[in-house]
Amino acid sequence: MSILVVDDEDSIREGSERILTRMGFQVYKASRGSEGLEILGRHPVEIVLLDLKMPGMDGMEVLAHIQRLNSEILVIIITGYATIETAIEAMKRGAYDFIPKPFEPDQLRMVINRARERIRLTEETEMLAQERQRNLADLGTEKSRIRTIVESLPNGILVTNVQGQVALMNPAFQWLMGIEEDTATGEPIESCIQDKGFCQLVKDISAGNAQSLSATYEFTTIGEKCLQATGRPVLGDVGECQGAVVNLVDITAMKVLDRMKSEFVAKVSHELRSPLSTIHEQLALVLKDMVEKESTRDQYLLSRAKEKTQGLISLIGDLLDLSRIEAGNVCIDFKPIKLDELLKNIVDFMETRANGKNQHLKLVLHDEPLPLIKADPQALESVFGNLIANAINYTPEGGAIEVGISLLPEKIQIDVSDNGFGIEAKDIDNIFKRFYRVKNEKTRFITGTGLGLPIVKGLLDELGGSIQIQSEPSQGSTFTVFLPISADNSPQNAASQTE
Ligand code: ADP
Repeated sequence: MSILVVDDEDSIREGSERILTRMGFQVYKASRGSEGLEILGRHPVEIVLLDLKMPGMDGMEVLAHIQRLNSEILVIIITGYATIETAIEAMKRGAYDFIPKPFEPDQLRMVINRARERIRLTEETEMLAQERQRNLADLGTEKSRIRTIVESLPNGILVTNVQGQVALMNPAFQWLMGIEEDTATGEPIESCIQDKGFCQLVKDISAGNAQSLSATYEFTTIGEKCLQATGRPVLGDVGECQGAVVNLVDITAMKVLDRMKSEFVAKVSHELRSPLSTIHEQLALVLKDMVEKESTRDQYLLSRAKEKTQGLISLIGDLLDLSRIEAGNVCIDFKPIKLDELLKNIVDFMETRANGKNQHLKLVLHDEPLPLIKADPQALESVFGNLIANAINYTPEGGAIEVGISLLPEKIQIDVSDNGFGIEAKDIDNIFKRFYRVKNEKTRFITGTGLGLPIVKGLLDELGGSIQIQSEPSQGSTFTVFLPISADNSPQNAASQTE
């Protein structure tokens, strides 16, 4: 930092120079005002110590010049006691401080330190102001960049506030939803979108009532577009919900492809089934013949071939079932059903299989009489047959499988539990996908199609039921099915209906 001392007295100039140099300043000296101004023209100076009474140009005039030259220079007036009023006048005209003459070194140091601190604070304030300016500029650029990105996205984007009012809609969203006019910000979502399910989803997420972090909804628009909306809440600093962001994707082409694929699979399966069944039957006949003739090697080979054809036949059976469910062609024939009886029959039927693995298969019935439920018996047989077969398959020899029934207010809960291999968390989300099979050391030698659980899920959807899993690797799994009880099937009516 540099200081200029302007004083006609040698002793003041020399004394000040000594003190200020020791304080770390670069010191310039001038004995006249004009000489001082000349130095200021040549060197950057932050502080000027200026005597008021000087021959030639007096201090006040020099001060005025300095103010014009650079108003940021701090001028400290040096003045005798007699001219203290003038010093005050000088301060009114923009001088920063004054120091009476004669002064002690400590006095000078104090005044200069004050000025130095002031310069530091001014610089800091300037830096902060610049930084704020830069941040504001950055924010502005960021905002417009994000807006451009959102506007040019091929997916539809909708942002709402906590009341479910529109905060932003990008052009793709308007196009996908067939909204022709610009929707004014602040309009409730129902004012521009007719699909009630979609509006409900948006309102639920916006108000923070969504069951999970991201909710998905599929629907068809009037223009026959099949759309998938995925919404997430916008959370504030303390986790409070501030609204929703909905991402809208056109899945029409995917749906068409999926349908075509299902139709293809159904067709191929259908074509394969009858010749395979014929081969299977014929193999069985040849095998029977061989048993009678006692040719063991041929018997072994042929029974392997028969096993494989049986595997293929069940794969095709599963594929056809699944295709029918997915195409909505499954014939659901709702009838009043005594669930405990139906489960008892399935458990009895599966018992031989469980016994083959020395497993204990048990049905635990509910204490009170169960209401009749309206469902399709064949669909239920397929659901529980699959779940119990899986429990037997994925539980080692000697394990235990239990089927339990509980009555809840509007539904019946059926638990199929085993103490088998269990399923790792990473696989649980996938086991309802077609052909998904968990591959590990324990399941390696178990044959299957990976279609059982998708069939179970598809059938339960048709029946208005649902399924949940709890599983712990090496501990076992519980598949819980919920089946609705219709109003006229409430427990009170059960006795009269079962009679
Ligand atoms: P599949 O049994 O023909 O392979 P599923 O769709 O019925 O096909 O089951 C998918 C996968 O889920 C199985 O391959 C198995 O790994 C796992 N799984 C199903 N039920 C159980 C169970 N009770 N215990 C452990 N794993 C199971």
